[in-house]
Amino acid sequence: MRRRHVARTGLGAGLALVAAACGACSPEPPPSTPAHVDSALPTAPLPKDLGSRAFSHVETLVGFGARHAGTDGWNRAVDYIAAELAALGLEVVRDRWSEESEGLTFENVSARIPGAIPDRIVLGAHHDTKITEGHDDPAHNFAFVGANDSASGVGLLLALARHWVEHPPLASVDVVFFDGEESVPFTWDLTRALFGSRRYARRYRAALQADEGEPPIRAMVLLDMVGARDLSIDDESMSDRGLHRIIAESAASRGHSAVFFRNRLKVSDDHMAFLELGIPAIDLIDIYDNPQWHTPEDKLEHIAPESLQIVGEVVLTALPRIEAAYFPEPTEERR
Ligand SMILES: [Zn+2]
Repeated sequence: MRRRHVARTGLGAGLALVAAACGACSPEPPPSTPAHVDSALPTAPLPKDLGSRAFSHVETLVGFGARHAGTDGWNRAVDYIAAELAALGLEVVRDRWSEESEGLTFENVSARIPGAIPDRIVLGAHHDTKITEGHDDPAHNFAFVGANDSASGVGLLLALARHWVEHPPLASVDVVFFDGEESVPFTWDLTRALFGSRRYARRYRAALQADEGEPPIRAMVLLDMVGARDLSIDDESMSDRGLHRIIAESAASRGHSAVFFRNRLKVSDDHMAFLELGIPAIDLIDIYDNPQWHTPEDKLEHIAPESLQIVGEVVLTALPRIEAAYFPEPTEERR
């Protein structure tokens, strides 16, 4: 078995977020390359307007400007996400809290699309933008609208939510929009980031411990930077390998293998809080060799509806496969 080294050159600013593996780290298995595409599962027709609908949300969010805690854009963004979910007839949960150590107020927004069974899959994206003001280094202060990071994930998640409302999934799906993903200091600091997903996971664990009948989360899929014109979804190395295989197979079955998993690297992101609870989770992220990442250039002009469509199609194709692999009973019996 050939061990693939994760550390890569040419990452530039990406190194700030990417914790590249090193000699001291434990060996990682090579990326799984599916020998065949599972043809046993049906491939349902896919909506053709996912990408265009997602893009229109991205356009709206970018129009709000910077959307980190405390900005006018943040207020408008959380209201917009909540209003879009409510317009779909969903019950919206707005969990607003104050993070004392940072003096910041955050808000996670979520909604459940009930399926035939209560066990659920969480689909997540972060809605905050990188803080690009008030830093000591003037180079870290600039106008930033976060078209890809992460209006793209939010836009696609809203478009997917609409599809699931119209075509209810077998498993329940929670769409969760996390706040406070970005590190408060400009340079990545794991202890001052990922606030929303950590809170969500903490509350979930508390609900399980309280035995309040909380439906279990069987898997988690994170969408982070999924809209670039030159889309290339990375093979994030902490992500669950079974989910990785399912996503790879789903991409292959839709003819999208070329944009999945060419580069393997480790990225700290909102999926970690789920992994820490033992929930299989995967980060679908396009960060390797991404020249717009955390720069003023992360603008709408670099986003393509076609890219959003591709990721949306792969997620929809993967969903029944995830149910089949991660839910306790064979889903065929319930179909
Ligand atoms: Zn970011």
